[in-house]
Amino acid sequence: MSDTIEKIECLIIGSGPAGYTAAIYAARADLKPVMYTGMQMGGQLTTTTEVDNFPGYPDGTDGTMMMEDFKKQAERFGTDVRFGLVTAVDFSKKEGGIHKITVDNSKVIEAESVIISTGASAKYLGLESEQRLIGGGVSACATCDGFFYKGQDVIVVGGGDTAAEEATYLAKLCRKVTMLVRKDEMRASKAMQHRVSNTKNLEVLYNTELDAVLGENVVEGVRIINNQTEEKTELSVTGVFIAIGHKPNTDLFKGIIDMDETGYIITKGKSTKTNMPGVFAAGDVQDKEYRQAVTAAGTGCMAALDAERYLASL
Ligand code: NDP
Repeated sequence: MSDTIEKIECLIIGSGPAGYTAAIYAARADLKPVMYTGMQMGGQLTTTTEVDNFPGYPDGTDGTMMMEDFKKQAERFGTDVRFGLVTAVDFSKKEGGIHKITVDNSKVIEAESVIISTGASAKYLGLESEQRLIGGGVSACATCDGFFYKGQDVIVVGGGDTAAEEATYLAKLCRKVTMLVRKDEMRASKAMQHRVSNTKNLEVLYNTELDAVLGENVVEGVRIINNQTEEKTELSVTGVFIAIGHKPNTDLFKGIIDMDETGYIITKGKSTKTNMPGVFAAGDVQDKEYRQAVTAAGTGCMAALDAERYLASL
């Protein structure tokens, strides 16, 4: 039940690079944006240690600190950043209609425009040892963390395009990469499989799964299992990359916003427009291809400009 209703011009859902960049632009355009951060304030980057590939940080930066900087910059122009979870949405189908958004099952916001930047979450296997060592050698992003394993031996779990892409990327940096594929074939496209088989220091183990990550505070190795023979083997590696897919955080919008078969929001043409007038989507929630902080930030900027133009046209 609602206890208060607040009317605003622009609501931003989610606090990753896309959300904060949208907030900076929307605030500077005087849309007085309100942002609800979600439970993981700062998004996926807060689970990375160092960010070396965001332009403007010549010496790299810490993911959490970078998101703090994003937040400060958004607040400097007047974004109202609030900790809270959007729990329901009632989007108007009418051009110029008012969107009703419920926060924490109680507060209702009436917004003229909404920017969805709820991101995506990397899928993990769920092993206790894997969960314990996230940030200690277990990662779900080779582009973010691969550099730290230069000249070392690592494994990649998964047999899809992401796993193949991450494995070939890592092979350029690491001494040896071993890919664990649970079936007797890869799901990755033929072109990607070709790249994998043409990479000398990349070995693929089929019918093989991760049984445990070894090490107390940092990864010291892995125990793997052949799911046909049940034979267990230990490999000495320092990095474990889980690449079994991402899940866009779109459950809240199912049946309301148009999505593809894997749950990513569909945006129109080169814009951030969704099928609902005045509702825009930016960042990983609508991008399964690039998924970088800098590309998310770019689409966040686009979403704020799209929202501004939409409001001006009413
Ligand atoms: P996918 O869902 O395509 O592949 C996931 C892989 O992980 C599969 O090999 C799957 O095995 C495996 N897997 C899933 N769960 C487990 C588990 N519990 N244990 C072991 N292995 C597991 O995800 P991707 O992220 O690879 O790709 C998502 C989409 O993005 C795809 O459409 C892909 O084509 C696209 N993409 C395109 C790229 C490009 O074109 N450059 C780059 C990256 C992604 P199984 O096959 O047995 O189910």
